[in-house]
Amino acid sequence: MTLAAPSPAAATTTRSCGAFALADAYQSLGRLEPPAAVWRRLRRWLTDDGATPTHRLAADAIRCGMAAACLRSAQLTPHVVDAVLRTGWRAVLNLRDPVDPAAGHFVLARRVAYGAVLIDDPLRQQTYRIAGERLAELWSPAGACQEVTGGVLVAIGRRRAIDPRDCADCPECGGEFLLPAVLGLGWRRAWAPAWAAAHCPWCDALATPLPTDLLRA
Ligand SMILES: [Zn+2]
Repeated sequence: MTLAAPSPAAATTTRSCGAFALADAYQSLGRLEPPAAVWRRLRRWLTDDGATPTHRLAADAIRCGMAAACLRSAQLTPHVVDAVLRTGWRAVLNLRDPVDPAAGHFVLARRVAYGAVLIDDPLRQQTYRIAGERLAELWSPAGACQEVTGGVLVAIGRRRAIDPRDCADCPECGGEFLLPAVLGLGWRRAWAPAWAAAHCPWCDALATPLPTDLLRA
């Protein structure tokens, strides 16, 4: 059976931008799957407002056999996005929607050049650049928009990029919680300064960098 992609009208009302962004990321990593198939899994997790919680995107990627982490950066800059892309991982960004500023919108970062992020918006079939100040603006919470909490992205990579030491069971839910060293994270090492926190893909529990004195212990 072939699954048809949601129509643009249905996509707008059902908020399937996350499914479209994930499907593009998966395709670039060799997993071919129509957005509608991803959407059928994600829509089970919709909030009452019809939004997809960002950490669920990471959970879907892990269920599909990939490595993924839902990360919060304190630095809302193209440099952070570039650091992820340079590792060969993909980055799905949770931005405020330029069309509907009260809503969040998932897009895929393609590359960073000349201080701007080249964005693929697979839902709307658009590609555009967002330069530094505008990125910080769209990546921050503001006004009526409750769906963007600031600096959150989902990094998705190939499973073989993961060291077993990057994996732990979430202390809250027991689900697999990756803090990949290749992205500057880890359960028993200092984090790259860009990262303020990581969210459990399954329950949204937060992991934060270990205090330096604990790392030395
Ligand atoms: Zn958890």
